[in-house]
Amino acid sequence: MTAVDDAGLDEEVDAWLRRNWDPDLTVAEWWERVGDSGWTAPHFSLEWGGRGYSRRAQGTVWKAFRAHGALTPPTGLGMMMAAPTILTHGTPDHVERHVKPIYRGALAWCQLFSEPGAGSDLAGLTTRATRDGDRWIINGQKVWSSQAMEADYGMLLARTDFDAPKHAGISWFAFTLDQPGVTIRPLREMTGHALFNEVFFDDAVVDDADLIGGLNNGWAVANTTLLFERTNIGAGSGGGGTSALPGPKGAALDRRAGDVAQHSPVVEASRGLVVSELVALAREYGRSDDPHLRQKLARVLTLSRIGEWTAARMKAEAARGGSIAGVANMAKNAQTIMMKLGAETALDILGAEGLLWGADAPEDGRYAELFNFVRCMSIAGGSDEINKNVVGERALGLPREPNADKGLPFRDVLARTKPPGGA
Ligand SMILES: Cc1cc2nc3c(=O)[nH]c(=O)nc-3n(C[C@H](O)[C@H](O)[C@H](O)COP(=O)(O)OP(=O)(O)OC[C@H]3O[C@@H](n4cnc5c(N)ncnc54)[C@H](O)[C@@H]3O)c2cc1C
Repeated sequence: MTAVDDAGLDEEVDAWLRRNWDPDLTVAEWWERVGDSGWTAPHFSLEWGGRGYSRRAQGTVWKAFRAHGALTPPTGLGMMMAAPTILTHGTPDHVERHVKPIYRGALAWCQLFSEPGAGSDLAGLTTRATRDGDRWIINGQKVWSSQAMEADYGMLLARTDFDAPKHAGISWFAFTLDQPGVTIRPLREMTGHALFNEVFFDDAVVDDADLIGGLNNGWAVANTTLLFERTNIGAGSGGGGTSALPGPKGAALDRRAGDVAQHSPVVEASRGLVVSELVALAREYGRSDDPHLRQKLARVLTLSRIGEWTAARMKAEAARGGSIAGVANMAKNAQTIMMKLGAETALDILGAEGLLWGADAPEDGRYAELFNFVRCMSIAGGSDEINKNVVGERALGLPREPNADKGLPFRDVLARTKPPGGA
């Protein structure tokens, strides 16, 4: 089902856009058309509602949409992580209720994994889910929850069994954020934006029907989410492709699609960097003959190509039913190096003025903002050190980190490591 290469993609997307793009549709109507035609996920198989192309196809499709003046397909954490996780572990009912609205940009998602005491040690999470008939009552706190303010649903990891060992008592829920028991507080970052949030649960509720992948099986489900997160970041598609956020809180769904088809500088900044953009920038600023810069550009290009090929290898292996140990972690770390080097190179090209911010700064301050933004890449989606640990253990066969918690009921682990009252 998976295409080995993307032969025919350009013609196919172009023909589809000529038949379908209508700037007078609302964003909601346009995205429904896009999602139902498989263009939100062109790199997913036909069974998954995609078009069976390679990982790279998503970028090609976005480019074709832009060239056509059309609003690009919906993106976001729902598309990056929730959709493939639910497609892997959910029932047909879960797919119908949750994945279709993601493809159509109708609902937005955030990831509710990290907690103040559980980041790298994610399995140490203490947000509690207590059964109450056919629903679960949620109490606890999450942190660093990107875009929670704009989200309708959260991928929630909560502990459903404190007596089971650490990794065995966790469940993965599709959690509705708009309810009385949820408080979301934004956290301001050094980019000036508030991407992150703290999310507090105070007797919040989730239906048992929204438990994905089975009771106490959340660690396996979470690993699927993390695999897709790292693979996406590793392939350089962590950012959005469009100027409109999905979901009702994105405030774009009722607008005319033609009016939001342009790209805002903020979203462009989080979109990341492609080497052709850096080369164009170097030419524009008369720096393309500088041997030092050319070396850096060559390095960015090399890392970017390796990232694409690594993603293609993973996909080919997955199509054969296999996987390559540690490769998503390596890809994510390589992408981090590339993004940091790319942002630094952009500032080298622009010179001292490149550090300025705001509309009057060179390139609207996009690269100054990007330079600050990419610092977070070595932490987001699993830190560099944790990724190296995984590669060491799973790919290189190095001894595993000592694990004194193994087999112990989580309640006992907590009693040893956390202050009283934690659970
Ligand atoms: C931009 C960004 C977006 C994010 N978005 C989300 C989100 O949407 N949802 C969400 O749930 N989380 C999100 N996070 C949180 C992210 O997953 C955590 O920050 C990350 O897992 C690290 O956890 P921590 O911050 O608690 O750091 P810690 O786990 O406290 O780590 C601190 C330092 O110690 C190192 N360290 C820890 N354990 C080990 C070890 N065993 N061996 C070697 N070194 C170690 C780490 O590498 C790190 O350098 C986001 C983070 C960032 C930066």
